[in-house]
Amino acid sequence: MVRALITDPVDEYIVNELSKNGITVDYKPGINRDELMSIIKDYEVLVVRSRTKVTREVIDAASRLRVIARAGVGLDNIDVEYARSKGIEVLNAPEGSTQSVAELVIGLMVAAARLVALQDRLVKGGEWPKGKYVGTELFGKVLGVVGFGRIGQRVAELARAIGMKVQAYDIVDLRDKATKLGVDFVDFEILIRSSDFITIHVTLTPSARHMIGEREFQMMKDGVIIINTSRGEVIDTKALLKALNDGKVAAVALDVLENEPPKEPWEVELVRHPRVIVTPHIGAETREAQRRIAEILVDKIIKYLRTNNLI
Ligand code: NAD
Repeated sequence: MVRALITDPVDEYIVNELSKNGITVDYKPGINRDELMSIIKDYEVLVVRSRTKVTREVIDAASRLRVIARAGVGLDNIDVEYARSKGIEVLNAPEGSTQSVAELVIGLMVAAARLVALQDRLVKGGEWPKGKYVGTELFGKVLGVVGFGRIGQRVAELARAIGMKVQAYDIVDLRDKATKLGVDFVDFEILIRSSDFITIHVTLTPSARHMIGEREFQMMKDGVIIINTSRGEVIDTKALLKALNDGKVAAVALDVLENEPPKEPWEVELVRHPRVIVTPHIGAETREAQRRIAEILVDKIIKYLRTNNLI
């Protein structure tokens, strides 16, 4: 009998469909680390989102584990290399949340350019700040997309429809893809120097850590607007706070932080800054994305278990 442990909140489709396929499912979203360490030895399948950290220690304790399934994209909370070295398959559903994240980016760009959150807070506090802040349109502005994968490309398409000029950078040469979408494929430095809005969509790898730091902020146009929905570690938070306080950066919208929730004093100062909008890592938090992710993931889990004669 195959047993599956789910340790983060997921769409009920995953629980139901795994059960229908004869798998015993224990749904324990919010389980703490000690409990996870003590029970993981009983399971063949582990389903997580980004909260559960599947470290070497967890993998060592998981003597029956055959599959780690991440309901989402990023695998940075899983020691993938170590898991695979132990013969454990690591699955994810990277395509499920692309549209949801891309839509959030467009919303955050408008919200940052018009200081929507700040104006809302002022009105709620009894003020009527009409005329106090003059925003900017997206139309005609240059959008720099850093990381031109699934989400970066979808953001580019939506931004083009709004009338933005889009340029993209990626470590992989995606010139042909860019041309098809009406996007200029440029060097990192050109993008950093010439964009009015910069949106980040890279995967978090050691080379991507703090790829936007003090040097990059200095190169940027005055009044640039920064959006990050990828991973918090891609931006040097201290340098971002300085660039905001210096007036180099006009506004920021972040769905991801180096520490979630914010912990260090400079992070707390950043999220409280009037020109910063923060959402609590909600890029994939839509009914549609969660269902899509669930369907893709269940499909992959069942296929893997069948191929390996486990069910
Ligand atoms: P993807 O793999 O399709 O695209 C990532 C792109 O980044 C690739 O083209 C890759 O070549 C490029 N890249 C990697 N390292 C780079 C570097 N150092 N410099 C330039 N380019 C680099 O991934 P995706 O589905 O588009 O997801 C993008 C990011 O969004 C990931 O970090 C993912 O974890 C994050 N994400 C966040 C949420 C959320 O809830 N906010 C939801 C889904 C995905």
